[in-house]
Amino acid sequence: MREKRADQAKREARRRFLQLTGASAVGLLLDCSKESPARPPERTVPRHEPAVAKSLKPNAPELRAEQKTGFYFHPAFLKHDTGPRHPERPERLTAIIDRLKADGLWRELARLQPSPATTDTIAAVHDPAYIQLAKNEIEQGRIQLSTGDTPVSKASYEAALLAAGAACQATTAVIEGTLKNAFCAIRPPGHHARPGAHGGMGFCVFNNIAIAARHAQQAHGIKRVLIVDWDVHHGNGTQETFWTDGTVMNFHTQQKGLYPGTGHPSERGEGKARGHIWNFEMAPGAGNTAYEKLYTEKLVPTARAFKSELILISAGYDSHRDDPLGGLALDEHGFGRLTGILAELAKEICNGRLVVCLEGGYDLTATAASAAETIRILAQM
Ligand SMILES: [Zn+2]
Repeated sequence: MREKRADQAKREARRRFLQLTGASAVGLLLDCSKESPARPPERTVPRHEPAVAKSLKPNAPELRAEQKTGFYFHPAFLKHDTGPRHPERPERLTAIIDRLKADGLWRELARLQPSPATTDTIAAVHDPAYIQLAKNEIEQGRIQLSTGDTPVSKASYEAALLAAGAACQATTAVIEGTLKNAFCAIRPPGHHARPGAHGGMGFCVFNNIAIAARHAQQAHGIKRVLIVDWDVHHGNGTQETFWTDGTVMNFHTQQKGLYPGTGHPSERGEGKARGHIWNFEMAPGAGNTAYEKLYTEKLVPTARAFKSELILISAGYDSHRDDPLGGLALDEHGFGRLTGILAELAKEICNGRLVVCLEGGYDLTATAASAAETIRILAQM
């Protein structure tokens, strides 16, 4: 029964994608076989084979790692202590894991512990002076970085290195084809952290997703990366990192008027990046339909034209209707549909390479349900 439902959901996602984007099924399969400069080795199982559905058959053989969705988590993320009553709290991650176990998804995943990113890897985005400042201030026992609204504890530097490490290692695994796709359940989050000497802000120490994009380029020869950020807040640090770059397209949606106040639609990048930064201010109450329309009508054709070789998602679930910090109206099914659109797009243009990194999301039940729905779709691809 579950197998049948999974197949039906997958067929429905593909049908909607084809209908909404005007692509042909033949085109999708042909495009998947195109050569690209950093194409991973041939897989023994084609990407379009319903690997997860197969695994749900009684007595089915265990999936190989390259057929699985990676789930990156480290217990040290729970030691990043933001103080009492802070919304960005360790229970966000344990709620996600509990939900995956309750839904039966947990056993389908390749569960991996990251190692810390090196400071050289982080320095591809952040000023070395800021990396040292963050380390020093955390070691000195400060409870807040001097650079902005980012609470820290003694264990926060290690957690921040591991969060960036998870994003990079997931990206490596997906590019090399040792995982099908990946979800990083990480904290501290990253998308507000800026590249300059005063980087940390908005609960973020290092910009995990920007570091992963640079890692893909510098370690794996990926030329063009698409970053999609559906957090309710603008990913200002990510935008600033790639403001004049031109090789990393940013697609941001945020609620108008919220922290940090940037992300006006007129912000489109400069120089080589002009036109490769996209900002959309979503009206309070905007929900699944508005997002799905924007993704299918604007994001998909833009990413096709850009020929992205990797897709990264800054997955903030504070755009969920139940979130205490946001005023939008997405729900977990909407996040699942957006994941499906991006996963189908990844299959079409970049051999399925898709990595999702957790950003915000402060209602435990909503965040857990939404992350689980994202992961369910990733596992079905
Ligand atoms: Zn947020």
